[in-house]
Amino acid sequence: MPTILVVEDEEDILDLVAFNLQKEEYEVLRASNGNDGLALALERMPDLVVLDLMLPGRDGFEVFKGLRDDSRTRNTPVLMLTAKAEVANRITGLKLGADDYVTKPFSPRELVLRVKALLRRATKAVPGTKIKFGPFYLDKSAFKSYLNGDEMDLTTTEFKLLSTLLEAQGQAVERATLLRDVWGYTDMVHTRTLDTHVKRLREKLGGDAHWIQTVRGIGYTLAVDPSMAQ
Ligand code: CA
Repeated sequence: MPTILVVEDEEDILDLVAFNLQKEEYEVLRASNGNDGLALALERMPDLVVLDLMLPGRDGFEVFKGLRDDSRTRNTPVLMLTAKAEVANRITGLKLGADDYVTKPFSPRELVLRVKALLRRATKAVPGTKIKFGPFYLDKSAFKSYLNGDEMDLTTTEFKLLSTLLEAQGQAVERATLLRDVWGYTDMVHTRTLDTHVKRLREKLGGDAHWIQTVRGIGYTLAVDPSMAQ
């Protein structure tokens, strides 16, 4: 059951949106200001965020930036709610990269349809399953990995680790994110496990080991330009 976070300061609209999403069997999280909304999103990692633009404290734009700046919510679809008078804001929002918009007043049915469409798109993007980056090619559905066209012999964990790094497409992936996505750990106790597996994966990459770079104090990344890598 997908979880949807609704961030909206107007209580009647929050109730209306939550009610209509719950009717569709979504789990709904609520926040009535930007700070709570962002904190809740990072903590619970919802499948989608319905985000009002005009919020007390941190407004919708700032919350949106916060979501995009954190690896946990970087790819979470965001449906923005804007008032009619905020058309200029819609343009700004588009530039920011929000996924879709609903202008107030909106029909609950329209909102639910947009949510469904966004979730469909998001889940389709994940099992697109074929990832190409540098010398790597991964077919997630077939569980096959290739390096310079040759099939690699990776363990399940190494495969997950490599695919998580590949999906970040050259962006640094935090240690906590890797531990959570690859192992399902939510604490930092197992941080040595991560380093051990990265070491083994690098060994299997042989002459291409330099593609996996350590980002000191953060985590790991795939080199965008491996000639710069050490
Ligand atoms: Ca508002």
